[in-house]
This record gives sequence, C-alpha cells and structure tokens, in this order.
Amino acid sequence: MSDANLSGKDWWRANQGKYPNSRSVDDLDPAFRDRVERFLASLRDAGASITIASTRRNATRAHLMHYAWRVAYDRFNPADVPPVAGLNIQWDHGDAEASRRGALDMVNLFGMKHIASLTSRHIQGKAIDMTLSWKSVLEVTRPAPLNARIESLPRSGQNRELHELGATVFGVHKLRSDPPHWSIDGK
Ligand SMILES: [Zn+2]
Repeated sequence: MSDANLSGKDWWRANQGKYPNSRSVDDLDPAFRDRVERFLASLRDAGASITIASTRRNATRAHLMHYAWRVAYDRFNPADVPPVAGLNIQWDHGDAEASRRGALDMVNLFGMKHIASLTSRHIQGKAIDMTLSWKSVLEVTRPAPLNARIESLPRSGQNRELHELGATVFGVHKLRSDPPHWSIDGK
C-alpha cells in the first residue's frame, strides 16, 4: 500500500462516494420492500406526508464509519482493523497519534455523533428511516376492508396506534427508541 491509501481527509474525499447509502425503497430487501410499499401507499392514500431519510446502508460505508470511530475514540489498534474485499485503506500510519488523527478526521467528515453499527437492519436492507405527519384524523382504509381511524396524538411517526397498525397490518415494526426507524422486526 502507498500513502495514497492512508486514512484521513484525502482518502475520504477521494473514496467515500464509492460507498453510498440509499434512500430509495427499491433498494430494500424484496421481502421488506413489499411490506414498506404497501404501508406507504396506504398512508399516502390516507393523506399522510412521508419523507424518507434512509433505507439500505452500504456495508462498506458502515465498516468505515465503525472502525474510524473505534480507532479515533476506543484506542482500537489500527493494525487490527479487519480487511474488506475491494477496500484499500491503511488505518495504521506507523504512528499512534497520526493514526488516531486520520480516523478522527473521517469521523468528522462522516458527521458521526455515535458509533456506527455493523449489524444494523439498514445494512441488510430491512429498515427504513422516515418522518411522517398528517392533519387532524388519519383514516387508513387500504387495503380494504381496513378501516382504521387514528385520532390520538402525536400526528407523527411516534404515534402508538400507528405503530400497532404498522406491525399488525403491514409487518413494518417501530423501534421506539429511534424516532425515524422502522424495520422488519423492530430492531
Ligand atoms: Zn434507522
């Protein structure tokens, strides 16, 4: 490996675009995608506004984020970062402080506020982050003969009746501790 592969700002700018995340429902795992499509079509039909922030997370991007954090903050030995096929990055700068600095620069460029999971449902294409809102009462009538009226508050993705509807009718489950996050099993 050459210095061109050293972790840090230059590496991030030159390479991070190869590992993009998706906000497209089409990129989800087919089994979950079908559930999400039915859920979203029904909510849109009921007049809800939906903004999708994230669907499938690129596995290599998640790896980069996870280990950048660990080298920057967890005293993880940069020489011990496991290799990924097709990914050329050298975490070990031959100097502990320089290695930590390179990783920290990447943490900052990724805009990370906490460590990235390597086992997120997003990596499997089985989770979606979205914000939902509606006016007054949400009347969900698709698929027939569904006839759900949600009058309770809040009028958002945090609504407990909506969580129940998503889980029981559509198989799309809310993770309550993570405001925008819904998945195939609530994880
Ligand atoms: Zn999520």
